[in-house]
Amino acid sequence: MTIHQPQFARGMFVDGDYVDAAAGKTLPVENPKNGEIIGVVADGDATDIEAAVQAAERAFTTWGDTTGAERADIMERAAQILRRRLPEFVSLEIDQIGRCRREMAAQLSRVPEWFSYFGAVARTHEDTVPPFGRTHLNYTRRVPIGVVGHVTPWNHPILILTKKIAPAMAAGNTMVVKPSEIAPITPLMLGEVFKEAGLPNGVYNVVPGYGPTTGLALTSHPRIRKIDLTGGTATGRVIAEMAGKNLIPFTAELGGKASLVMFPDTPVERCVAATLFASFVATGQTCVQGSRLVVHRSIHDRVVAELSRRADLIRLGDPQDPATQLGPLSSKRQRDTVERYVKIGLDEGATLAAGGKRPDGEAFSRGYYYRPTVFTDVKNEMRIAQEEIFGPVVVVIPFDTEEEAIALANGTEFGLGTSVWTKDVARAHRVAHAIRAGIVWINDHHRIDPASPWGGFKMSGLGRENGLIAYDEYTQIQSVIVNLSDAAFDWYSDDGGEKRYS
Ligand code: NDP
Repeated sequence: MTIHQPQFARGMFVDGDYVDAAAGKTLPVENPKNGEIIGVVADGDATDIEAAVQAAERAFTTWGDTTGAERADIMERAAQILRRRLPEFVSLEIDQIGRCRREMAAQLSRVPEWFSYFGAVARTHEDTVPPFGRTHLNYTRRVPIGVVGHVTPWNHPILILTKKIAPAMAAGNTMVVKPSEIAPITPLMLGEVFKEAGLPNGVYNVVPGYGPTTGLALTSHPRIRKIDLTGGTATGRVIAEMAGKNLIPFTAELGGKASLVMFPDTPVERCVAATLFASFVATGQTCVQGSRLVVHRSIHDRVVAELSRRADLIRLGDPQDPATQLGPLSSKRQRDTVERYVKIGLDEGATLAAGGKRPDGEAFSRGYYYRPTVFTDVKNEMRIAQEEIFGPVVVVIPFDTEEEAIALANGTEFGLGTSVWTKDVARAHRVAHAIRAGIVWINDHHRIDPASPWGGFKMSGLGRENGLIAYDEYTQIQSVIVNLSDAAFDWYSDDGGEKRYS
């Protein structure tokens, strides 16, 4: 590990300012392209979480009472400031996780939309219910939940965080965030954006640290009123227990093992281009990575040949270079995982059609690079077809009938995303409806929008991000029932009860 003067040295962001951890502990942030330390942030413990929760509780007393329009104004300003500061955010996200510039610039340019969208929801989303009986008016209020805890992963640091904090903030909650220890810098910097936008101190707090310590202190904190996690399924189970003990709502965006289902009317070039995009973008480190290509047997061999040829041509390199098409994996641990699974795949009897190794050359020697990898001769029950690898590895499985394709697409414990590729409209919808996944794309993959609900079936999660449903999940409904009648009633008189409920 080479230590250089870090570009970024701040502590945690609590009550509107950068402060050090109470115990003075820090954690280094590494650049996965060369192992250099690019930042040092606080490593928070239970005392720091307590301070952040208290700041958020103080802020809630006023923020929770603002109008939707007031919150929307601040969120719109935050969106504009973030747009202005995007180049800085893009550069630091690349340095933290190694994802290449062309992808990071495209992804982050969309992040401000989440603040605009949920600001607009806060401004407009109100409910009334039809009057009941002849004498009663019922209206509902969406009341914020309180202090919420957000635990986020490293693969899309700002995008995933924004999917959680935008609806939480719009609904009037205050929050404490525990970002991944691999990518805490940009979540901290977002505090500066909110401060400039006029968000009151204490609404947004970030305490970096490690999952089993800082994360545990946050998720088990007795005064946190909701937890929202994006992470692996194993972490989801651990935190769900905590939420169960404290009887609080829990949203979980967990692991995936997405299939691309290719029917034979898909041209080979389209099939290949789609698979390259679905499988290798973000060096395969996305929850909806198209890690399983389920392809009709009639085009299987041609697709495999072309997919392998094109995978070998993908340009690996410095992720800051706009010409680079694939950056390193985000950490040594992640590359170790990929290498372990490639060995498992070979031991299980699968065949490597492309990749399966690190790239050669001095330029890659210090970073966590790995070549795009394609496995054939794969059976659905193999571990490489079932378990989330989270790297640039795709397995190819042939099918003969539509029923078989559906069974394969549904044939894992996960249910996050699936894409269906065909020009046959009836088949596209029929298959989409048979897929047990929270997101089904038809002739596309990876598309996301703040208005489009996002979340998993089966072991891929609980609850939804994005859309009105995400806003609703950050509120509690209060039903206010108003008696419009002045008539006297007396339940204990001879006819009082009947009149009252007629
Ligand atoms: P992890 O589950 O390892 O970690 C997620 C977050 O949880 C991190 O901040 C981690 O801290 C924290 N954490 C870990 N253990 C605990 C604990 N016991 N208590 C509280 N917090 C804890 O996931 P990764 O960061 O490795 O992210 C990859 C995973 O995220 C994949 O499984 C992927 O599929 C999933 N994901 C799901 C998405 C979806 O929309 N469904 C989107 C993107 C990713 P730390 O890392 O600092 O130790």
